[in-house]
Amino acid sequence: MSYQTVNPFTDEIIKTYDNHDDAYVEEAITKGHALYKKWRNDPVASRADALHSLANLIESKTDELAKILTIEMGKRLVEAKGEVAITVAIARYYAEHGAEFLKPRDIISSIGPAQIISRPTGVLMMVEPWNFPYYQIMRVFAPNYMAGNPMLLKHASNTPLAAATFERLVKEAGLPEGVFTNLFIDYDQVNKIIADDRVQGVALTGSERAGQLVAAEAGKYLKQSSLELGGSDPFIVLDDANLSEIKKIIGGARLHNAGQVCSSSKRFIVTERNYDKVLDMLKTAFSEVVLGDPLRPETTLAPLSTKKAKQNLTKQVQAAVDAGATIAFGSVEQSQPAALFEPVILTNITKENPAFYQEFFGPVGEIFKVKDEAEAIALANDSHYGLSGVVFGADAEHAAEVAAQIETGVVFVNSFGGTLPELPFGGVKNSGYGRELGDLGIDTFVNKETIVTK
Ligand code: NDP
Repeated sequence: MSYQTVNPFTDEIIKTYDNHDDAYVEEAITKGHALYKKWRNDPVASRADALHSLANLIESKTDELAKILTIEMGKRLVEAKGEVAITVAIARYYAEHGAEFLKPRDIISSIGPAQIISRPTGVLMMVEPWNFPYYQIMRVFAPNYMAGNPMLLKHASNTPLAAATFERLVKEAGLPEGVFTNLFIDYDQVNKIIADDRVQGVALTGSERAGQLVAAEAGKYLKQSSLELGGSDPFIVLDDANLSEIKKIIGGARLHNAGQVCSSSKRFIVTERNYDKVLDMLKTAFSEVVLGDPLRPETTLAPLSTKKAKQNLTKQVQAAVDAGATIAFGSVEQSQPAALFEPVILTNITKENPAFYQEFFGPVGEIFKVKDEAEAIALANDSHYGLSGVVFGADAEHAAEVAAQIETGVVFVNSFGGTLPELPFGGVKNSGYGRELGDLGIDTFVNKETIVTK
């Protein structure tokens, strides 16, 4: 496996990185473990200042960091700056609230007063994807740093520069040795790390396949794991929905980050009354995109992350059409160079079509016509995934009742909410388990130790 920076817009190989050997991995675990032992007895609040320093440092380098994302995985520069901003916000959020989230909790027991205290558990492994290279790291790093768990990173093989840059900034910000080591390693080395007694958990964001394999290793060695996998997220439009509000956001809900977002809207589920209008809106939004160089401000749709991703998505669209889906916008043929992918809208996707249960990780929208609200809810829940969702209805209270019937980790009513530091993020079903972000996101790898005193 080789770690390479390849510009997906120009197809230029910019740099190939050497893999780290087992001795390097051993040193990283040893340093992480020593730090864990030291940190165990330090107050959580003692770590906050350094996390604030890291946030400030990242913020001060926004332009440099954003450009790395644009060159390495094709994200539009404006979106890349947005990613740096949310990465900073997550660091600040946990620096400000970490100690409060982990403060001791009193219980009255029949034996006597008891207290639940939060203790770190040890070194963690994180396996992260390329779609939001800094944000994905920070979602795990910030809460676990505050909790006292040092971390090792195996990032995606197509985002090595983002990974190495994050590590460099952690050092520059003055965080202690062993707190975070980026590793250019293969899957076997990841498995060996998971097996190591000093490593107490693994957090993965990525595909179902990667989730299955890594969680199986974690299970084999009885290690805690959290999985944030894909989503085929429903966007439900009820009869009374405010269509002018939908018009403002429908393009972004599907096309942000070139459609490579686990929680973006993938399946537009629209009642008969609004179907034609919403399909027209989607077509308009898709037809208005300017596909091209992610460094240029005029571009509104970036290339996919790699040529391989483009080949896979093209095959998926072809298979959907072969199984009877209709292309309402765009075409199976992709005529643009490198990883540029022209957007596609699919309709008439029946339950027998393989596309019905798949996630399209790119600028492909699926739209479904349903008779009424009950059918909309049933269709939304007829999915192997359960990550995120959107419900639009003028009666917000009723729309929230509909939202509560959707089997996903989060539902946004009358907005497309994206991600915020304070909102827990994660799913059910094949979208994985565990939560990142918010107060829940700090608890995953913490020992909630109960001390009972007679
Ligand atoms: P992967 O799941 O293959 O990659 C995500 C991360 O997992 C990468 O760091 C990858 O390393 C690593 N990985 C994969 N398999 C293993 C393994 N057996 N052991 C250890 N690490 C592993 O995703 P892809 O990049 O191939 O994308 C495929 C699909 O995954 C997308 O189309 C999308 O459906 C989903 N996905 C979901 C994301 C999300 O945010 N939930 C993000 C990215 C992808 P390496 O790069 O070296 O293979």
